[in-house]
Amino acid sequence: SKEDVQAFLKKNAFVLFTVGAVVIGIVLGFALRPYKMTYREVKYFSFPGELLMRMLQMLVLPLLISSLITGMAALDSKASGKMGMRAVIYYMTTTFIAVFIGIIIVLIIHPGKGSKDEFGKQQTIEQVSPADAFLDLIRYAPIGILFLIAGKIVEMDDLTQMGGQLGMYTITVIIGLMIHAILILPTLYFVITRQNPFIFIAGLLQALITALGTSSSSATLPVTFKCLEENNRIDKRITRFVLPVGATINMDGTALYEALAAIFIAQVNNMEMNFGQIITISITATAASIGAAGIPQAGLVTMVIVLTSVGLPTDDITLIIAVDWFLDRLRTTTNVLGDSIGAGIVEFLSRHELRSKDVEMGNSVLEE
Ligand code: ASP
Repeated sequence: SKEDVQAFLKKNAFVLFTVGAVVIGIVLGFALRPYKMTYREVKYFSFPGELLMRMLQMLVLPLLISSLITGMAALDSKASGKMGMRAVIYYMTTTFIAVFIGIIIVLIIHPGKGSKDEFGKQQTIEQVSPADAFLDLIRYAPIGILFLIAGKIVEMDDLTQMGGQLGMYTITVIIGLMIHAILILPTLYFVITRQNPFIFIAGLLQALITALGTSSSSATLPVTFKCLEENNRIDKRITRFVLPVGATINMDGTALYEALAAIFIAQVNNMEMNFGQIITISITATAASIGAAGIPQAGLVTMVIVLTSVGLPTDDITLIIAVDWFLDRLRTTTNVLGDSIGAGIVEFLSRHELRSKDVEMGNSVLEE
C-alpha cells in the first residue's frame, strides 16, 4: 500500500541516496571525461570526496581505541578469549579460502598470456592531496561518495588500454572476488547460522557502498559499525570486539588479490610457478593481507613481499597500477563484507556466553 511504500522510502532513504550518488557519480564522471581536465582541476573537483575520506579517517582512531576498551570491559577474559579464538579461526579460514580461489581462478583463466611488451605506458603510485575540514558526516556521506567516484572516472586512463592482458586480468580479479563474496561467504554464513545471508548483506549495503567509494576498510569502519548494530542488530559486545581487529587483519579481498596478481605477473614474464612456489605465494599473500593497512592501495604496496618471496620482479607492480584504483574498491568491499559476516558468525557462535553474561549482569552494560 501507499503507507508501506512511504515507510520503506523513509527507512531506506539514506541507502537510496547513496546508491543514487554512486550512479550520478559514474554518469557525471563519464560526462566530464571529454573535457580533459588538468590534474589541478581534477583535484579541485574531487575535493568533496577527499573531504569525506579525511573525515572518516579522523573518526577511526578514537573509534578503534574506545570500542576495543568497551568491548573488552563488557566481557570477562574467559568469554573474550573464546570469542577471540572464534574470530581468529574465522579470519584464517576465510582468508585461506580467498587465496585458494585467487590461485585457482588465475591458473584457469590465465590472463597473462602473451608478452610484457603489450602493456601500454606504466605509471607511478599517485600522491594523496591534503585537505582539512569538518562537516556533518551523515548529510554529507553520499555527496562525498558521488565526487569520489566521479573524480576517479574523470581521472582514469583511456579505456582502450583495458584491452588484452590487463582487461583479462581485471575480469579474472572480478570473477575471483565475486565467487568469494557472493558464493563462499554467504554459504558459510548460512551453513553456520541457518539464516538468510542476503538479508544480512542487505543491512550492510551502506557500508559496502562506502567501501566501494573510499577504497578503505578503516575509513568505512564507522559505517560498518552502524550497519551491523542498527540494521542487523549484532550485539555491541561482538562488534566492538571483532570489527576493529577484523578491519585491520582480516582482508579476504586483498589476500585473494595478492595471490592472483603475483601469479599474473609470473604469467606475463612467462615464468611457470611450481607447486612449492604456489604454496609460498599462498602463505606470503596471507601475510601480506594481514600486514596491509585498511587504506587505499595498501595491498599494492605489500605485494612486494609476495613477489620477492618467489623471485618475481617487483618493478612489475607498475604493470597493474593502471587498474588498481578500480580493483582496490572491489577488494575493499569484499574485505568489509568478510569482517561483517565474521561478526554475524561470531555472534551466533557466542550466543550462550552472551546470554549467561546478560543473566549475570541483570542486563547488558552496553545496552543503555
Ligand atoms: N584498500 C584495501 C582496504 O582498505 C586494502 C588493499 O589495498 O587491499 O581494505
